[in-house]
Amino acid sequence: MPRPTQATTSPTSGPTRTHCPYCSLQCGMTLVPGRGGRTLEVEAWEEFPVNEGGLCRKGWTATGLRGHRQRLTTPLVRDRESGELRAAAWDEALDLVADRLRALRAESGADSVAVFGGGGLTNEKAYQLGRFARVALATSQIDYNGRWCMSSAASAANQAFGLDRGLPFPLADVEQTDVLVLVGSNLVETMPPAGRHLDRLRERGGRVVVIDPRRTPTSDRADVVVQPVPGTDLALALGVLHLLDAAGAVDEEYVAARTTGLDAARREAAAWWPEQVERVTGVEAGQVRDLAVLLAGAERVTVLTARGAEQHAQGTATVLAWVNVALALGMPGRAHAGYGCLTGQGNGQGGREHGQKADQLPGYRMIDDPAARDHVARVWGVEAGDLPGPGRSAYELLDALGQPGGPRALLVHGSNIVVSAPRATHVTERLAALDLLVVCDLVMSETAALADVVLPVTQWAEESGTMTNLEGRVILREQAVAPPAGVRSDLDVVAGLAERLGAPGTWSTDPEEVFAELGRASAGGRADYSGITYDRIRAEHGVFWPCPQTEEGQEDHPGTPRLFADGFPTTDGRARCVPVTFTGAAEQPDEDYPVHLTTGRVLAQYQSGAQTRRVAALPDDGPFVELHPMLATRIGAYDGEPVVVTTRRGEMKAPARIVDTIRPDTVFVPFHWVGANRLTNDALDPSSRMPEFKVCAAAVRT
Ligand code: SF4
Repeated sequence: MPRPTQATTSPTSGPTRTHCPYCSLQCGMTLVPGRGGRTLEVEAWEEFPVNEGGLCRKGWTATGLRGHRQRLTTPLVRDRESGELRAAAWDEALDLVADRLRALRAESGADSVAVFGGGGLTNEKAYQLGRFARVALATSQIDYNGRWCMSSAASAANQAFGLDRGLPFPLADVEQTDVLVLVGSNLVETMPPAGRHLDRLRERGGRVVVIDPRRTPTSDRADVVVQPVPGTDLALALGVLHLLDAAGAVDEEYVAARTTGLDAARREAAAWWPEQVERVTGVEAGQVRDLAVLLAGAERVTVLTARGAEQHAQGTATVLAWVNVALALGMPGRAHAGYGCLTGQGNGQGGREHGQKADQLPGYRMIDDPAARDHVARVWGVEAGDLPGPGRSAYELLDALGQPGGPRALLVHGSNIVVSAPRATHVTERLAALDLLVVCDLVMSETAALADVVLPVTQWAEESGTMTNLEGRVILREQAVAPPAGVRSDLDVVAGLAERLGAPGTWSTDPEEVFAELGRASAGGRADYSGITYDRIRAEHGVFWPCPQTEEGQEDHPGTPRLFADGFPTTDGRARCVPVTFTGAAEQPDEDYPVHLTTGRVLAQYQSGAQTRRVAALPDDGPFVELHPMLATRIGAYDGEPVVVTTRRGEMKAPARIVDTIRPDTVFVPFHWVGANRLTNDALDPSSRMPEFKVCAAAVRT
């Protein structure tokens, strides 16, 4: 039986260089013990290039969860008679889980057990969770909440470039571009240290374009602000491509040498003249023309998309439409230009590269590729034929829970589904229909409160592990302190269950050992980490993948900060311009639900808020409903007074925030609290299986 690891490496008594526990920027910071070692202070790490010492308020207060009175420090098991959770020993809890998993598998087959991971888990945990699902549980039913983060951009990048890495260049490259187009990104509010790149770009004379239905702090630092109807970014991109083509601004030499398919994409764009774009998007035809002129006249253009463009039932098509604009201008692969995606979650990128996603194996290998299965099976010491095939995507998996033929048990790591899933009331009902719900978490999240077994796990700073930031830079979060007594790492949980289930192979609880195994499993794959070591990450401020071993045992590959300069990793080395058609949001406003609802983030909170809502130094003002004065007048709403937002899936009540920065036909609700996702639509993108979080039809009343 593996020995539980209380401290994954020796905590130091001095400063520790590490990274923020939250978003995909993974800002560097220094943790310094204070007051006789009882406290831990955050200080700047000036040399780390991504943030140069800057942090947002979430980063500065990141130690606020240490020693929190709501921190879980003992396993909890639901008592069958009272229905209450009671404290249990680790062995009792793990034995119980293993026994019930064995019984369910014997009754209903391997796919009756499912695993749900998170985009905040380290690469080591994501890898080990994927291996645990496929080898110890033999289930195909594993996916993660990163599916709801950037999967549409991933799907589009794979189709267009043959590779999905959020940014194919370091983020600082955008300072040298001439026009930066941000589509559906509120970068200044969601990752403030990155805002300095916009300022430096503009100081050099470059221009920033922000496309967002709301005017945000990012718009305030832009030269051009475009506010389309939610869900119409795709139509706007088609209109821009139409105008570029009509003006002869397509880089025909680049297109001929480095792409295929632009003619078909041009034909799709042909029907999108500016007045037609205005009719659909609400953006004036003149502004569409001005945008096209700005792009046509720039030597270097960078287009970055984020959740506003991607979290749609047409999310993949929307990203492809903007990629087509970038390709028509001849940008991808050119220095200080191209296309990229701004990932949201801390390890949204690495989380899917190493096996948490239903259709992928480590190294960004596809699970239905025989050669990929052979390679990974060899590393895992099992037969390739014993590995399951692809499973259900995140929402489809949750929707199937407790249904005939669906999973009867769910293990949740690093996710607060009750708050973050679309159509959350329905998903909560599905969780309640399970025979067994096991949740690993730091605190009693809304999802943990429903569990049959809650396992208290280590958090950031109490453990080591790697993350892959939005640039594809693999960084190392170092352990700074010992975890509280009674708490174990997710790696320990997985090892303890694998051992009890009689899984083959060894299940290390040492993150560095797991990382070395991950490297071997990824070798030769698209996301090859085999040349990366903890020591190299420490010495080099992170290492960009792909970074293969040049020879057995050699770790001298420099890593790959910039991709596509010499070609695209497709069969013929060319990028694909994929023609796309605009069909609009899955749900359009009508008489009963006359406005658009969109959702998003606020500066002081992160994701479902399970961590940040408990940090005393961060303001928690609760949810609100942002609406335009014209709409407020129409329904008789007053600032600060409650309004009710209703959709076909549910309703929520929250104070009104009346602002003239939002479109009069749109309301906005932040998603960090229970409520917003009771409203959102579970319509899925056909390729990425991304739910349509960003737009649905709603009614608002006092
Ligand atoms: Fe942390 Fe992101 Fe804020 Fe940086 S921008 S301090 S990574 S939350």
